[in-house]
Amino acid sequence: MIPIFDSKRQYKLIGEEAEKAVCEVMRSGSYILGKNVQALEKELAEYLGCKYTVGVNSGTDALHIALRALNIGKGDEVITTAFTFVATAEAIGMVGAKPVFVDINPDTFNIDPDKIEAAITPDTKAIIPVHLYGQPCEMDKIMAIAQKHNLRVVEDCAQAIGSSYKGKKVGTFGDIGCYSFYPTKNLGTMGDGGLCTTNSEELKEHIIALRNHGSHVRYHNDELGLNSRLDEIQAAILRVKAKYVDEWDRQRREHAAYYNKLFANCPDVQTPVEADNTYCVYHQYTVKIPNRDEVHKMLGEAGIGAMLYYPIPLHFQKVNAWLGMGKGSLPHTEADTECVISLPMFPEITKEEQETVAKTLIDCINKSKSKVGV
Ligand SMILES: *Cc1c(COP(=O)(O)O)cnc(C)c1O
Repeated sequence: MIPIFDSKRQYKLIGEEAEKAVCEVMRSGSYILGKNVQALEKELAEYLGCKYTVGVNSGTDALHIALRALNIGKGDEVITTAFTFVATAEAIGMVGAKPVFVDINPDTFNIDPDKIEAAITPDTKAIIPVHLYGQPCEMDKIMAIAQKHNLRVVEDCAQAIGSSYKGKKVGTFGDIGCYSFYPTKNLGTMGDGGLCTTNSEELKEHIIALRNHGSHVRYHNDELGLNSRLDEIQAAILRVKAKYVDEWDRQRREHAAYYNKLFANCPDVQTPVEADNTYCVYHQYTVKIPNRDEVHKMLGEAGIGAMLYYPIPLHFQKVNAWLGMGKGSLPHTEADTECVISLPMFPEITKEEQETVAKTLIDCINKSKSKVGV
């Protein structure tokens, strides 16, 4: 069995250090918004190259709080992609705004900047580009459009810690960047966690208030907020793991290059394209294949933990049915939803395992072809 991701192997490397850090927090008696959260926020601001970061409870909350901090709500529209995890659009709905989905560039799976302007209306307030699978969006074009139309930009960086565009880390281009520390992310904790980044002191203060019941001064509540604090235990674990993230990202890139080599002579497997000027951290290694559903099933039976990210585009989800977007409204999104498959990818995967994955995938594709007679 080769899993898509393996937390246990990573634990062998960081376990001892993390256990020590967690025990220290438990003994300290300080569990919420203590010195670990403060230190992590400072360390990650330095790592990412932005002025401030604010720890929150999850990536989903980071997106929700970011939109609240920018005063986006009822009657507003936010442009984003339908080829992403549900949380991106969920955050838009949670503040009472309307998600407006724009099609992707089928090479990068990311929002197509050339299609954004046509989606702008007088109600548009913001754009949420998602750096999907760790591949940075074309931030130059997106920021230029935002500037021209006076729109805010919230970057969904949940899958892209360490990724950069023209040498600058993602999450530092827009007004606010949102990271997730869900256990399987490139920097994951042992529970839930998230982070907002910003260069604006005013936004930072607003985010700090929103994560803690809308309060700047204890028991003085200025606006509706959330209980969305990153806790000390998660922050302590993240401080241990953050030291390894560059090395882990580098290993992921090496594995991606090896997969590319293994599939080099297979016209049936369309390997990922790295856009110019980007450093992609391969949160997922996602290929396009024929007979995807059949092959996915066969891979499962062969013990390969391949996954579909994501099997249903967001405009076809029940929760977004009220938008009334029918079949054919986002052609590239819809086509890619049906042919993408993500293969096992994590820093500790071995070359032998990758070879098994590649060989099994090719076998399964060939078998599926003879089955359906293509
Ligand atoms: C994981 C993820 C989120 C949500 O993060 P959580 O920490 O799980 O709430 C948001 N957007 C994308 C693209 C993600 O992959």
